[in-house]
Amino acid sequence: MKKVVKFGGSSLASAEQFKKVGDIIRADESRRFVVPSAPGKRFSNDTKVTDMLYQCYNAAESGRDFSELLSKIKDRYYEIIKGLSLDLSLEDEFKTIEKSFKEKAGKDYAASRGEYLNGIIMANYLGYEFIDSATVIFFDEDGSFNAEKTNAVLSAKLSTCENAVIPGFYGAYPDGSVKTFSRGGSDITGSIVAKAIKADLYENWTDVSGFLIADPRIINNPEGITTITYRELRELSYMGATVLHEDAIFPVRQEGIPINIRNTNAPDDAGTMIVESTCKQPKYTITGIAGKKGFVAVNIEKDKMNSEIGFGRKVLQAFEENDISFEHVPSGIDTMTVFVHQPEFEGKEQQVLSAIHRLSHPDTIELESDLALIAVVGRGMRQTRGTAGRIFSALAHANVNVKMIDQGSSELNIIIGVSNKDFETAIKAIYDIFVLVQI
Ligand code: ASP
Repeated sequence: MKKVVKFGGSSLASAEQFKKVGDIIRADESRRFVVPSAPGKRFSNDTKVTDMLYQCYNAAESGRDFSELLSKIKDRYYEIIKGLSLDLSLEDEFKTIEKSFKEKAGKDYAASRGEYLNGIIMANYLGYEFIDSATVIFFDEDGSFNAEKTNAVLSAKLSTCENAVIPGFYGAYPDGSVKTFSRGGSDITGSIVAKAIKADLYENWTDVSGFLIADPRIINNPEGITTITYRELRELSYMGATVLHEDAIFPVRQEGIPINIRNTNAPDDAGTMIVESTCKQPKYTITGIAGKKGFVAVNIEKDKMNSEIGFGRKVLQAFEENDISFEHVPSGIDTMTVFVHQPEFEGKEQQVLSAIHRLSHPDTIELESDLALIAVVGRGMRQTRGTAGRIFSALAHANVNVKMIDQGSSELNIIIGVSNKDFETAIKAIYDIFVLVQI
């Protein structure tokens, strides 16, 4: 049995948290490959080391004195080293970092030092080999991740190690300079490492006991999700459920490796299992609800739209020309609506409208703003009659006007458009009908 264990920033924010992590790793000898994040927040208004590094590098880049900011970062690491009673000095590392900042080594290099230094401490604490991710994780010149080269080099390297620590979040360009993933990217590193060693399980340790059916800022104390499929998770995380980085699913999904989200502060909780497929029926018809506010509906009307071949393509071309991605495109006989993100669209709305006119010659275009989209996701919906009916009667009872409905052909999700102001009420009504009332 081989497991990759990734620990998030809050799991490694202090010596006390490191000790919990050490206990978790030592409790199971199959936890052989460890991917740490940089130290996160110790308390709610604390600053993550990654953010401190960005600030510090900003000062260095603009020629300001950054010594105080750098020494605060150093203090964070020494607090951990001391608390763990390690015989480890990072003096040489900090000298190199200071010099590289002066030489303007780049923002990505700066941010990556958070994981790099935490990896050195972790390896020392566990007695595991340290592998610098810049030597095993590769990006192409254009900044895209090179999965093939990474997998070949990383799996060859890891096949020679019994145990290792591989810092999260970064790798290197072909010339060896550091490149990071987007924020929260240590989740991706964990997934890449799990793929490279063909792990039996990728454990992702964080500060919550897995995914919840709905956002706890909207639903008081929502129930947790015990098992979710990759596809369900993709729908939910795309619509705003954030526990795991969106891109962390792909490497393990290709290999059919399950992910287990676990809580460092409650290690006995089973957490959420993310799997390719399961015969376990979810407890409720729906697996989860997520949503986002801030959409605009662009309603386009043209008589006999249905018989004009290529009309849809011309409309979508107007969005493409303006570099705007669309979310959903429900249509009728003489109408077509394109849902787009409001912040992305606002600045370009007039260019988009004139491009639609130029390309497709519609009769009218109307805009409706301040809309929210809600995804109700569940593999159980396929076998259940009346799911949509229950959603809409719940929304009607809650006085929520439904502006758009879109059921994916996979029957895995139903997307509902409502006004921003009805967003929370709608989520509560849907949660109540499926989870609390269960009619
Ligand atoms: N430390 C990085 C961040 O704060 C990456 C991570 O934690 O996954 O975004």
